[in-house]
Amino acid sequence: MQTNFTLAQLADPHVAEAEKILRACVHCGFCTATCPTYVLDGNELDSPRGRIYLIKDMLEHDRPADAEVALHIDRCLSCLACMTTCPSGVHYMHLVDHARVHIEGTYRRPPVERFMRALLAWLLPHPRRFALAVLAAIPAKPFGPLAGALGFKRLAAMLQLAPWRGPHRTLGPQVYPAVGPRKGRVALLAGCANDVLAPQINASTIAVLTRHGIEVVLAQHAGCCGSLVHHMGREAEALDRARANIDAWSAIDGLDAIVINTSGCGTTVKDYGFMLRTDRAYAERAGRIASLAKDISEYLAALPLEATQNVAGLTVAYHAACSLQHGQRVIGQPKQLLTKLGFTVKDVPEGHLCCGSAGTYNILQPDYARRLRERKVRTIERLRPDVIAAGNIGCITQIAAGTELPAVHTVELIDWATGGSRPPRLGSSVL
Ligand code: SF4
Ligand code: SF4
Repeated sequence: MQTNFTLAQLADPHVAEAEKILRACVHCGFCTATCPTYVLDGNELDSPRGRIYLIKDMLEHDRPADAEVALHIDRCLSCLACMTTCPSGVHYMHLVDHARVHIEGTYRRPPVERFMRALLAWLLPHPRRFALAVLAAIPAKPFGPLAGALGFKRLAAMLQLAPWRGPHRTLGPQVYPAVGPRKGRVALLAGCANDVLAPQINASTIAVLTRHGIEVVLAQHAGCCGSLVHHMGREAEALDRARANIDAWSAIDGLDAIVINTSGCGTTVKDYGFMLRTDRAYAERAGRIASLAKDISEYLAALPLEATQNVAGLTVAYHAACSLQHGQRVIGQPKQLLTKLGFTVKDVPEGHLCCGSAGTYNILQPDYARRLRERKVRTIERLRPDVIAAGNIGCITQIAAGTELPAVHTVELIDWATGGSRPPRLGSSVL
């Protein structure tokens, strides 16, 4: 695509990067076919190509974002299906990230919108605040449908996603020693939502790793990866969180990997090197930390796992989280691990389409998120699985809110099959 940036504009490394991405796009439109928002409504402005044009026009003319640009960029899930599809290698993720920062800095959203976004940015990256919000949501949960009927769709979405039971305690910094001779040492990113909503995910991760000789460290001062605020264009907050994690993990000697079991976070940590490329104090360490980041399924694929529990007969619908399949291109490992351990694994048709979770998307864009969940749940239920597995707490929460089928993290099944605890959500009727 031809661009017309001035030399003065291109002196800004962020604009120069955006221009490089824009020039790679040949506007062929292949990406539109796999974009969830375009698939739903067929509106070119809600397709990757349409959004790329909007971003180009805004940046080239050095214009503040307006309501139209914000509307269509906000509707983007950052699912990155377009990147997997694009034959020209357009790095849409970096482009839309830059556009979001530009929007945040130049566009004044309506007051309710500003309040919602500020509230989510204040609440979600802090497990203790998040836990208090979950506690407060429980008595209000039965009123979710009423809130929706009265037009408070975001409140209704939050209440629908909230669990029926109270929050769990979060794990503090500590070291989980390897069982038997130590064969490796990893840091685990505990995540913001895992411990509060589903502590069995981190418990299974730690159990399966330590049982196979891997020491697991939860680093002092490591916290939210920054992805939630990063996707809202709140760049300074996201970079501060990235720096804090880089400091925390750099202080640990002898790490083989930084293991991440929330694929949305994994995509962001793997991008730390790019995010901090202009920060002289952090660029090098950011690149090193990013290169150590591994999804739990990537790390486990290299270990000699063997089944000790007979799980044959259990059919798993594997939902590939967008951040895992498109963001990190981790595609085969989760299914191969499950199959090797004896599960019958079924791919979900239209697996490239997002379930509508996407960080805070299912709260900020409840209509699109609901339609995508309904579509996803329909395709999953047609497979008649016993259980749904995914590698991201966001997807698990989003899908579970629309089906009676149990939804668990892939690592829970792997841990169970190799001698760990049975996933609590499986229920007694399964196996
Ligand atoms: S597929 Fe790639 S090159 Fe084609 S329009 Fe989409 S982003 Fe541009
Ligand atoms: S990231 Fe997803 S929603 Fe956004 S333009 Fe690409 S395919 Fe569409």
